[in-house]
Amino acid sequence: MTLFEKIIAREIPADIVFEDDKCLAFRDINPQAPVHVLLVPKRAIPRLGAARSGDEGLLGHLLVKAAQLAQMLNLSDGGFRIVINHGADGGETVPHLHLHILGGRPMEWPPG
Ligand code: AMP
Repeated sequence: MTLFEKIIAREIPADIVFEDDKCLAFRDINPQAPVHVLLVPKRAIPRLGAARSGDEGLLGHLLVKAAQLAQMLNLSDGGFRIVINHGADGGETVPHLHLHILGGRPMEWPPG
């Protein structure tokens, strides 16, 4: 089981902010912004590059939910950033697809 599967199964505690039948959102344990929430699919896809035909519905659901969560977390007016890290150079550390929802401060560009 991945770390995030253990959080989904409630084997590891997390500060959960949203759940539905397809995904779970919880606060990042090492926040990089005043608001830093991870949104993960319950059906584990290792990373974005492992998504396949047939995953479009789930990926679309995650994006729509990320936007709704940003609104729920009062980030819509100020703005927010969605990040998906793929592989070592992308900064991926947990091999279970997840969207970072970051906000509450101005973001820099280019990203580090
Ligand atoms: P990534 O580096 O894109 O794979 O993101 C993994 C994220 O998971 C990092 O931002 C970590 O801080 C976060 N993380 C690791 N363990 C936990 C945990 N137990 N609860 C919440 N977030 C975690």
